[in-house]
Amino acid sequence: MSGHPRAGSLRGRVALVTGGGRGIGRAIALDLAAAGASVAVSARSGAEVAAVAAEIEASGGRGLALVADVTEPGSVAAMVAAATAELGPPLILVNNAGAAASHKLLDHPDALWDRMLDVNLTGPYRVTKACAPAMLAAGWGRVITIGSVASITGARYIAAYTAAKHGVLGLTRALAAEWAQQGITVNLVAPGYVDTALTDGSVANIVSRTGRSADEARELLAAMSPQRRLIAPDEIAPLVTLLASDAAASITGAVLPIDAGASAIASTG
Ligand code: NDP
Repeated sequence: MSGHPRAGSLRGRVALVTGGGRGIGRAIALDLAAAGASVAVSARSGAEVAAVAAEIEASGGRGLALVADVTEPGSVAAMVAAATAELGPPLILVNNAGAAASHKLLDHPDALWDRMLDVNLTGPYRVTKACAPAMLAAGWGRVITIGSVASITGARYIAAYTAAKHGVLGLTRALAAEWAQQGITVNLVAPGYVDTALTDGSVANIVSRTGRSADEARELLAAMSPQRRLIAPDEIAPLVTLLASDAAASITGAVLPIDAGASAIASTG
């Protein structure tokens, strides 16, 4: 762990990572732990969060597995209470839990709209609200939400996901303003397509709707980035760890793309 670029920068801090059982959240949980934080890792799949917490402990860190659903207010309250009881109040919150689904608007199921907003927008609202009293009491806090390139730009067939991810950008900016003088920073990290189970779902969707092969579907997603590639979860985590540190005290209300240029470069031909 001493080889980590921010080794020790988070020593004595407690972090909560929602959706930390796999993909981007897992990479973030491991990186925060490597920087010295005690990390509560939560998601609905108990086996996955247990594996990540065990991985943290095996490398000499402190990891706690919590089963929780960010769409259930009671579950969120229990998650924050358990993290606080076991590790201390989580003053670093990473709102990472999320899900993606696509549909054309005309026959868009209302239930899909509700589900996308609940997990991707209301979830971060609920968890942030539950963690905020301890941050305000401490006069120090870090709220880092994993948005998406869909927080910044629009794309076909993902109206609900895009509305939710634009929503968390608004939530981020509003709370950054509300807590600007309380020692709490609130930021949004906005990845492009990352190579995770979530993207596997998008690939499967393209395969079933277009008849393309899985390799062709992955190439289609990779081609949306000017660098023509999917991003690795490990490329997201270090920025989150930096934002969680004291060094990032003046970064607040920011939206930070990690998208291989997708939101900034119109076309590379
Ligand atoms: P994964 O599907 O690999 O992981 C999602 C994580 O969130 C899992 O741990 C999952 O666990 C958890 N989760 C999902 N729903 C809930 C819920 N209701 N309550 C608690 N936990 C939940 O996805 P990624 O790692 O790819 O995505 C992580 C975040 O990054 C999401 O917010 C996503 O929108 C965002 N993102 C992803 C991109 C990509 O290309 N992959 C691009 C841009 C943003 P479980 O199902 O067990 O609850």
